[in-house]
Amino acid sequence: MPDYDAVVVGSGPNGLSAAIELARNGCSVLVIEANETLGGGVRSKETTLPGYIHDICSTAYPLVVGSPFLSKLPLDQYGLEWINPDLPMAHPLDDGSAAEMHTSVERTANRLGIDSEAYRSLMGPFVDRADDMAPDILAPLQIPSHPILLAQFGLRALLPATLLANRIFKTDHAQALFSGIAAHAFMKLSRPLTAAIGMVLGIYGHRHNWPFVKGGSQNLTDAMVAYFESLGGEIQTNWRVKSLDELPTARATLLDVTPQQVLDLAGDRLPGGLYRRSLKRYRYNPGVFKVDWAVSDPVPWTAEAPRQAGTVHVGGTMREIAISENMTNRGLHPEKPFVLLAQQSLFDSTRAPDGNHTVWGYCHVPNGSTVDMTERIEQQIERFAPGFKETILARSTRFTFDLEAENPNCIGGEINGGVQDIWQHFTRPAPRWSPYRTPMDGVYICSASTPPGGGVHGMSGYHAARAVLSDL
Ligand SMILES: Cc1cc2nc3c(=O)[nH]c(=O)nc-3n(C[C@H](O)[C@H](O)[C@H](O)COP(=O)(O)OP(=O)(O)OC[C@H]3O[C@@H](n4cnc5c(N)ncnc54)[C@H](O)[C@@H]3O)c2cc1C
Repeated sequence: MPDYDAVVVGSGPNGLSAAIELARNGCSVLVIEANETLGGGVRSKETTLPGYIHDICSTAYPLVVGSPFLSKLPLDQYGLEWINPDLPMAHPLDDGSAAEMHTSVERTANRLGIDSEAYRSLMGPFVDRADDMAPDILAPLQIPSHPILLAQFGLRALLPATLLANRIFKTDHAQALFSGIAAHAFMKLSRPLTAAIGMVLGIYGHRHNWPFVKGGSQNLTDAMVAYFESLGGEIQTNWRVKSLDELPTARATLLDVTPQQVLDLAGDRLPGGLYRRSLKRYRYNPGVFKVDWAVSDPVPWTAEAPRQAGTVHVGGTMREIAISENMTNRGLHPEKPFVLLAQQSLFDSTRAPDGNHTVWGYCHVPNGSTVDMTERIEQQIERFAPGFKETILARSTRFTFDLEAENPNCIGGEINGGVQDIWQHFTRPAPRWSPYRTPMDGVYICSASTPPGGGVHGMSGYHAARAVLSDL
């Protein structure tokens, strides 16, 4: 008899989702985590001063609340509470104004002047049917349940973000708003499929806001862990698995890791051939340089909108953002990086003491970068919020190698489990009918390196678990 029905290596949101889906279907499951803390990309910590809770990895969760799997779990019974910012996202420009993404498509469009109608028709039809679309787009390649809707989405989503934005928008505001969201793709914005990221995060932002977790992202992980344990699941921390051979016996082993690590863990157990070659050739994104600040006051944005926003995209016009993303993809460090910034404590007083605040930010850097981007990031914020630097009480910075040391999935500081361009989106981690199964009997991959890819939605883990259940 094997020790467990399933062993899951890694406790990121996908590992935990897989573990929950298996446990609630009656399997005995052990989750093994290298770190002392659980959660992978969903953790928080006091990294600056006592009482300041920073989301040290992910922070904004439109895809959790939009996830057909995670949104259905009873996590509220295990302490999960959502914080919905007044304005999901704002994007300041040099003239002191800002583009605004409201939950309402109508309100967002109305502020875009001559681009109102173009924005309305880009987002509106899909926001109305976001819940219908989610099972099709947060899934591996499959026969869609809403083929016409998906085809209409695909016509726009397959385009490069800059091409789509140049074609339909005339104003700096609309172009900056859309390209800033698309830049979450980590790719050159002139590459096909970058529009998909702009559309997906935009659609789910309108449908569900870009919410934070009350008290810190760790509370999402803790709720998932508590629910998993209530189903009889077991967890072992501080165990960095070096080889599949050291694992307890199980009918299925699920790896919440990326292809490079699968090769290391499997060694000779993984046969030669196309699958092994594909894992070897698997491509990773640029990395991130991460900064968390403890500050004495809210960020003093010149424009009004960013003062109300949960997330702020700091990088100026679409042209500037495109240049910044081009450079990081070519191994260069932009002088004016595109900065993703979040202000959780404006809406959640549990994050910082005495009316003080937390600010979360990062910029993209070449994979494996060793350059300190602190000054450039803070300069970009000062550009749109003069006086920001004077509010800083403490900061914690993390290089690409720090991220990888904390979480081996962050290869070279990357955060999304591998490039998600038009080729690797449909073939992650290797061209295969079932992307979760490997050629090794009973061994599966369940991380963001499988469809639907990066971000916190748990759907890679869920689909991997369904493959296991069907095999068992
Ligand atoms: C700085 C940063 C900001 C981000 N911002 C957002 C955001 O705002 N919104 C969003 O949706 N997404 C965001 N992301 C991306 C998101 O966090 C990831 O896409 C997601 O966490 C991937 O989940 P996963 O389960 O596949 O892997 P991970 O979350 O990376 O988890 C993998 C786990 O496996 C463990 N592990 C690896 N190897 C071993 C081993 N050999 N033995 C044992 N354990 C092992 C790791 O320690 C880790 O805990 C961000 C990520 C980072 C780092």
